[in-house]
Amino acid sequence: MDTLTETWPRNEAPRTTADWQAADRAHHLHSFTDPAVIRDKGSRIITGAEGCHVIESDGRRILDGMAGLWCVNVGYGRPELADAAHAQMTALPYYNNHFQSATPSMIALAEVLAELTPDGINHFTFANSGSEANEVIIRLARYYWQLKGQPHKRTIISRTLAYHGSTVATSSLGGMPLMHDNDGGVLPQITHIEHPHWYVNGGDLTPAQYGLKAAQALEARILELGADTVAAFIAEPIQGAGGVIVPPETYWPEIQRICKTYDVLLIADEVICGFGRTGSWFGSQTIGIEPDFMPMAKGLSSGYIPVAAVGVHDRIFDVIERGGLWPHGYTYSGHPVACAVALANIAIIKRENLVARVRDDIGPYFQSRLEDLAQSHPLVGERRGVGLMAALQLVRNKATREVCTPEDNAAIFCRETCYDKGLIARAVGQSMVMSPPLTITRNEINDMVAILTRALDATAQKLGYI
Ligand code: PMP
Repeated sequence: MDTLTETWPRNEAPRTTADWQAADRAHHLHSFTDPAVIRDKGSRIITGAEGCHVIESDGRRILDGMAGLWCVNVGYGRPELADAAHAQMTALPYYNNHFQSATPSMIALAEVLAELTPDGINHFTFANSGSEANEVIIRLARYYWQLKGQPHKRTIISRTLAYHGSTVATSSLGGMPLMHDNDGGVLPQITHIEHPHWYVNGGDLTPAQYGLKAAQALEARILELGADTVAAFIAEPIQGAGGVIVPPETYWPEIQRICKTYDVLLIADEVICGFGRTGSWFGSQTIGIEPDFMPMAKGLSSGYIPVAAVGVHDRIFDVIERGGLWPHGYTYSGHPVACAVALANIAIIKRENLVARVRDDIGPYFQSRLEDLAQSHPLVGERRGVGLMAALQLVRNKATREVCTPEDNAAIFCRETCYDKGLIARAVGQSMVMSPPLTITRNEINDMVAILTRALDATAQKLGYI
């Protein structure tokens, strides 16, 4: 008999998986999902979670190698975060930051973030998602140049395969062709340069040479457009949803030089890299850059509640401070409950030394286990990653760096096989991607690698490699 699953509200009768799937099919439009899959196969109903595992409606435990959507940094099942929400909701469930108001948890969160972010980032504005945070930045960057008497500096340069959100403006800001094709193309005053992935784009250049070349594409684009029209360059320190793309070491110093030379603001999208994922509090610290804006979300609350923030450098704030009323705000900017949960989440990351753990212990272990797999497996051409984010590039030929094609369907097959065997990993293009909670243990990493190896074997067999 099908397992019965609790409902919400709890006083309703329990339902089976099939009941949930039927109601889901009848009424729910899923994100990033082909509705035909829901119609034909039904959705996977997740009813609980604990540590690094999620629990399906039939009671099966699955190792969550993606920490939800790269966000559950402290792992599942932390009563402290629920307690923080409860206490704040009891004391003050809502007030806002418009018209001269503020609440203690939003002030305290801004104060803590100023301590953790790179020098010079000392003011924060809040939002409810990474997309909303990037929307604010588009407005703020253009507003800044307007106040500086350069209203033509409006174009934002981004990168192919970037991900910056799903709203009208941020889907254009991202560099995912699928998202542009569905929406009539890219908005004006947004343009993209190549993503710095040496393995695929580097040809005969060394990684160092290619890193410079990829960065200099920014200079070329600025010169082509005219520096007096370019407001900002946006990039994830390490591209996440595009496939964990770690640029060669020469890339970021050159990008920083170019931004300074042409007076182009640098936006470091920390939505994935922030809060310990790369072994520093922020990816900008790992790669050594000084951004003007830092959007952050996900790990800010470990996904327990929607909240996002934008760090603003003093040099920007000093101008905005003199500009008069800033006509922007969301009803839930700096929601007191979300900020209280974020504070409690940051307190856990600090107390359990999770950032140092990723840098010195579990991150290197994770990367070295995957590197061994990459070295030994015929289907894997490259392991790339930093801290607790990594990708394995699936290839047809290791020697020539010929990657699998979409027709091979290798990554999707491998992802589905992983799921069947009890691991959530992601297929991005022709790569397998992982980004587990920062609390993951060595044993759980061993489990991950064991399942992944079996799934890669099955994929290689299907492709006729072994
Ligand atoms: N920026 C980056 C780097 C992201 O990875 C994401 C989400 N995956 C976003 C922005 C958008 O965040 P949200 O889904 O919270 O709107």
